Amino acid sequence: MISKKMENMVANSSAIRAMFEEGNRLAKLYGPENVFDFSLGNPNVPAPEAVKDAIVELLNEEDPVALHGYTNSNAGYEDVRQAVAESLNKRFGTGFSANNITMTVGAAGGLNVILKALLNPGDEVIVFAPYFGEYRSYVDNYDGVLVEVSPNTENFQPRLDELEEKITDRTRAVIVNTPNNPTGVVYSEDTIRKMASVLEKKQAEYGTDIYLISDEPYRELAYDGVEVPYLTKYYANTIVGYSYSKSLSLPGERIGYLVIPDDASDSENVIAAANVATRILGFVNAPTLQQKVVKACLDEKTDLSFYNRNREALYNGLRELGFECIKPEGAFYLFVKSPVEDEKAFCAEAKKYNILLVPGSSFGCPGYVRIAYCVSYETIINSLPKFAELAAEYK
Ligand code: PLP
Repeated sequence: MISKKMENMVANSSAIRAMFEEGNRLAKLYGPENVFDFSLGNPNVPAPEAVKDAIVELLNEEDPVALHGYTNSNAGYEDVRQAVAESLNKRFGTGFSANNITMTVGAAGGLNVILKALLNPGDEVIVFAPYFGEYRSYVDNYDGVLVEVSPNTENFQPRLDELEEKITDRTRAVIVNTPNNPTGVVYSEDTIRKMASVLEKKQAEYGTDIYLISDEPYRELAYDGVEVPYLTKYYANTIVGYSYSKSLSLPGERIGYLVIPDDASDSENVIAAANVATRILGFVNAPTLQQKVVKACLDEKTDLSFYNRNREALYNGLRELGFECIKPEGAFYLFVKSPVEDEKAFCAEAKKYNILLVPGSSFGCPGYVRIAYCVSYETIINSLPKFAELAAEYK
């Protein structure tokens, strides 16, 4: 018998698995070129050449025992953490050192580490809908309670009045994700400033620490020169979770880091707790070879022009067909208003044209669907006539 908690988790994750299997089934039936699978956020741009070069060089040059060994500190290699800190300081004018960086097993690993470090059972974590659905499981892993702020469908910037209302003396953390999955929206500097002042005010009112966790796997994926504010500069109690899954197209390698600044409340203990959490969650340390790889590739980025071409083609194509959506400023998702209230029915209809979409209710925002455009350009172009047939049904 599996645990009651896992029974629920297994039941809830079956929808995602079913979608994945459906994509494979349709591809076998109709040929992959006739299936438009927009369901997964798996980058399809190869990692920069420098990643391969770094791996080859490391394998050839480094002592293999050390390279594949446990790291001395669960936080990761000191030289890697120092290099990450210096790179952030150069880019954002921050003042981090190796001590502020914990290397993690991607953003997912980092979020689990920090939530394990911070949450007592019953503690509340606030998220802004629409949000990455896995947050619910991550918070539940540590018996926390997820509290949703309702979506602001006008522009998908967070509702700060509602944030203020929903903060209680049990609020331990607020998670933000910008550039955002699933909307592609980048939270403006004005939004961040106002959010910071709400959090400051509520911390003072309750005499508590409210940590702002900035989940930023899409930081480097911002288009048209849009600035993505670095949140530690606006609110002292910010913890950053970064990932190389999208920025270097390395999702399967499971590498990222947490930044826990000295300015964050009780930072020494939070850093110590994050390092112990890394160990006792069973990660032990982030993958050692990949730590060295990212150190060698700190100035590298994925090919943004690839995603940008997809973004323009899909956004313009769908708008011409009458679909409503906000032009994404970052990440690689389009969040489209369903032409009918029941967006799951719309997804089922789209599937008849071999178009696979994710219902917005998976992100706490029914009435919308997510299209992941990290697919080939041909897939985008070939899907548009199918979207046209789909749109005609709703005219
Ligand atoms: N957070 C968000 C918003 C994501 O979209 C994803 C992955 O798609 C993750 C976290 C997890 O990413 P990682 O591969 O770094 O664990």
